[in-house]
Amino acid sequence: IEGMLPADLRADFPGLRTADGAPWHYLDTAATAQKPRAVIDAMARAMGEDYATVHRGVYARSANMTAAYEAAREAVARFVGGRADELIFTRGATEAINLVAQSWGRASLRPGDRIMLSQLEHHSNIVPWQLVAEATGAQIDVVPLTDDHRIDLEAAEAMITKRHKMVAFAHVSNVLGSVLDTARAAAMARSVGAKLLLDGCQAVPRLPLDLATLDCDFYAFSAHKLYGPTGIGALWVRGDLLESGEMLPYQGGGAMIDRVAFTGTTFAPGTQRFEAGTPAIAEAIAFHAAVDYVGAIGVEAIHALETRLTDRLRRELLAMNDVTVFGPTDSAGIVSFAIDDIHSHDLGTILDEAGVAIRAGHHCAQPLMDYLGVPATARASFGLYSADDDIDALLEGIARTRRLFGKA
Ligand code: PMP
Repeated sequence: IEGMLPADLRADFPGLRTADGAPWHYLDTAATAQKPRAVIDAMARAMGEDYATVHRGVYARSANMTAAYEAAREAVARFVGGRADELIFTRGATEAINLVAQSWGRASLRPGDRIMLSQLEHHSNIVPWQLVAEATGAQIDVVPLTDDHRIDLEAAEAMITKRHKMVAFAHVSNVLGSVLDTARAAAMARSVGAKLLLDGCQAVPRLPLDLATLDCDFYAFSAHKLYGPTGIGALWVRGDLLESGEMLPYQGGGAMIDRVAFTGTTFAPGTQRFEAGTPAIAEAIAFHAAVDYVGAIGVEAIHALETRLTDRLRRELLAMNDVTVFGPTDSAGIVSFAIDDIHSHDLGTILDEAGVAIRAGHHCAQPLMDYLGVPATARASFGLYSADDDIDALLEGIARTRRLFGKA
């Protein structure tokens, strides 16, 4: 079938079985992806027989570890179409966005400057901006959504002014799967000289990406949504910005300095300035294994699979007259919905008993819930190991929930 990945890929993922060995229908990959054996093994080796610190050892093991850590930076950068000298390792997308808000924002924002966000942002692309707005006197503007729940770029174009210094949008919404028209967003930001940050958490595992041609300034993502470990992610920064002096040091400490003295400290150049302290060494190496694994399958193939599954699930849910489906018809791998008179938490609990894992709640997007006028949604999200049997199990679970609620 078109858009099907080899079924035996599932065997690579020990997390896709329950404790007693039964298949587990995992439909929460947008929260975090299960890990292939290659990632788990890479992490175990890096924590075990290969383990040592990076960047300062005089012994061979440390030099090897340093090379592996820097090879990871190279591989992750290449995976998104960037260069290693543009890629800062962070704890995840959240830290990446906080880094931009604190480092670029504190250096560049003045009272009266404006930051443009959208109604569908994850809390991690809202709260860091609120903190820096509070500190600098900048103001936040919120772009509404279209009727089919995309960021309304026509409205954004009408709102933007020369006071806007930052536009920060999700590339793919974690609740709705809405895909941003990045070329149009970039042209809009350019037209007033604003920086463009894209929150790529949900896009990197789902859409082919080439940062060399995507005209943004900052791109943030997490390894754990890309089949890699937690505790590491990346911030890609357009090369000239790193050296421009528009970014202050973020955190101070070891590894980010050139020379420290009580009379004054100088900082390391490039990305190194933004990686204070001993980094997540094993995690970086496992992140490398993850991008190798995903790269070998191909994001195009993953996208084709997830698109087919998303289409089918949306169609089946829309055919039920008591279900509301949120988001546009071309959602990328993520389907949010609500069933009349059944709270999404109750649905999630009953589905769990049937071996189906979905997310229920506000998905760290409370302003979006307010906009949609619901307290919560149920969300099913796909990954490279997803298949039609996961949807079958979900639909059966929904039918069972309806019966339990006397709604059959
Ligand atoms: N942005 C989006 C769109 C996300 O989906 C998430 C994770 N749910 C984040 C940011 C935050 O990522 P992390 O928790 O890995 O830092």
